[in-house]
Amino acid sequence: MLNIAQTVFRRKIARIIGLPIILLLSLSGISIWQITRLLSVMNWVEHTDQVIAQAYFTQKLLVDLETGVRGYQLTGNREFLQPYEQSNSQINTAFDELANLVVDNPTQTQRLKLIRVEQTNWNRQIYQAIARKERGETEPLAGFQLRKRIMDRIRNELANFIITEEQLRTQRTQAVQVTTIQVIFTSIALAIVIGIFLAYFIWRQVLQVSQNYQTALTIAQQQAQQAQRAAQRLAALHNIDKAILRAESIESLINNALVKMSEILPYQQGFVAVFDFEKSTSKIIAGSINTRELQSLIGTQIALTDFAAKASELQNIRYIADLATAQSCPPILIQLRSQGIRCSLCIPMFVEERLFGEMNLSTTVVDAFDEEAHSIASEVTAQLAIAIQQSLLREQIQTYANELEQRVAERTAQLEETNQELEAFTYTISHDLRAPLRTMQGFAQALQEDYTDKLDSVGQEYIQYITEGAVQMDTLIADLLAYSRLSRAQIEMQKVDLTSVVEEALKQTSTELQEQQAQVTVAKPLPLVIAHRSTLVQILINLLSNAMKFVQPGIQPTIQIYAEEQQNWIQLSVLDNGIGIAPEHQERIFRVFERLHGVETYPGTGIGLAIVRKGIERMNGRAGVESQLSAGSRFWIALPKAVPHSNNSDDASTPHSDN
Ligand code: ADP
Repeated sequence: MLNIAQTVFRRKIARIIGLPIILLLSLSGISIWQITRLLSVMNWVEHTDQVIAQAYFTQKLLVDLETGVRGYQLTGNREFLQPYEQSNSQINTAFDELANLVVDNPTQTQRLKLIRVEQTNWNRQIYQAIARKERGETEPLAGFQLRKRIMDRIRNELANFIITEEQLRTQRTQAVQVTTIQVIFTSIALAIVIGIFLAYFIWRQVLQVSQNYQTALTIAQQQAQQAQRAAQRLAALHNIDKAILRAESIESLINNALVKMSEILPYQQGFVAVFDFEKSTSKIIAGSINTRELQSLIGTQIALTDFAAKASELQNIRYIADLATAQSCPPILIQLRSQGIRCSLCIPMFVEERLFGEMNLSTTVVDAFDEEAHSIASEVTAQLAIAIQQSLLREQIQTYANELEQRVAERTAQLEETNQELEAFTYTISHDLRAPLRTMQGFAQALQEDYTDKLDSVGQEYIQYITEGAVQMDTLIADLLAYSRLSRAQIEMQKVDLTSVVEEALKQTSTELQEQQAQVTVAKPLPLVIAHRSTLVQILINLLSNAMKFVQPGIQPTIQIYAEEQQNWIQLSVLDNGIGIAPEHQERIFRVFERLHGVETYPGTGIGLAIVRKGIERMNGRAGVESQLSAGSRFWIALPKAVPHSNNSDDASTPHSDN
């Protein structure tokens, strides 16, 4: 578009410059031609002057001829013949030159030929006369008369020749004058005409260029205005978007959009209705409505036919520029009209090509919505439709989530109840199992002590098995009780010094450590953590016992205890040189009764690590292991870090309940 305009502009400029140059060149050409014509006419005048001068010169020579001869004839003195002889030697040349000058004029050439014939004749006569005179003879009168007649004719012809030339000269002088006037006038006239034409032409071109510029300026201004309006519109739509996004409910969603849209569209009231095609009803869900009569409609269900006689009509945008003159109006618009509304714009709302409602904008001003208003309203309605649909979906999901949450809470409560019942049952069973076990142990011991002599060695061996089985079962029940207690105990968290906890655990396992000749290194001082002290001591005892127990026979257990800080956590590690654990078993060993070896190889109940995991979880910590088979293990526990203050608040003696 810009390129085309530039080409047109360049063509115009070329025309403005080119045409005057062409015209001025033409004017110069015509002037040169005129001047050449004038010069040629003037040359002819000069030529005629030359002819006349040459004619007079020839006439003078003829006179000299005649005069010279006459003097000689009168005196007989040859001195008088000198002018004759001189003229005679020149006369032919003079005639030749004259003939050359009038070669283009046949009449004069003919006349000159005649004169030359006469002159030749006269010359012949005069030769004879001079010869006679030299012989001393007397010239007869007839000779004189003949020559006089010849000379008269010559004179006469020459005079006519000169008259003719002078006439020609007069004619040519007049032609010069006429041509001069013609040249002057045509030059002036041409200059004036070309000047006027050029002035008019340049004026028109300049006018056109200025008009083009004016048009271009207007277009540029219009485009700038359009761009400005587009930017305003974009900003407004952006604001509407933001308002839609900010909204918490469908009502506020619609109200926000309507309030923001009223800044760029000239409507006074607007509302959004949703349709239920199955029930043939509709509902105005929200809007900014001024009249009380219509306001009462918000939230109530009305017939779908109130919006349009046929459902298919609802699919399209309906614009009624003037409700007062509209031929047919649906009841809702009649109601609006009765409230003073004159112009109404209804835009359908679609989601995935499914019509689900409409937006209505109305005002008391006739034909208030132009094409741009239509497009803005359509754009906002489309966005609003998606937002409403999303909101509806969100509400639905929220309802589902709430229902689900409630169900989960109910199930959790049920589970907790069952769990508690189960734990109580386990506790009771474990607790109650101990009494008959004690009885069994007691009677087995009585048998051993009182009936040793009555029992053979096999019987005594059986009693030994019973005693060992009872001890094993007692340990199992004790561990189970400890685990069960840990689940039910109330745990109070406080600042705990890990150094003292480790020392306590080492103290409690000292006998075992000595038996195993274990070598323990503790990287003191250890930091403070938030934990439940006695549970933590129990956890460490279990880890230490395992570290001592699970070593290859004949290997001295070497145990390292150290702590690392990780952000707000303290990780305490118990590193051993034991048999290690294959990666695939590292998670399951933390479950109850999970063991990787037979009791005969490594004795145990399979509850120690379950107590570690349970205890650490109850203290909001984490526990794990890093290990490779035959490469030792690093069991770790992580607990929240405690900030130390001046008085060491690690209160080991703080009473706590673990029951
Ligand atoms: P128990 O020690 O009574 O067998 P635990 O719950 O303490 O039960 O341990 C479960 C299993 O985890 C053990 O039987 C053993 O196979 C493995 N285990 C625990 N600690 C270690 C360790 N330090 N090194 C190698 N294996 C271990």
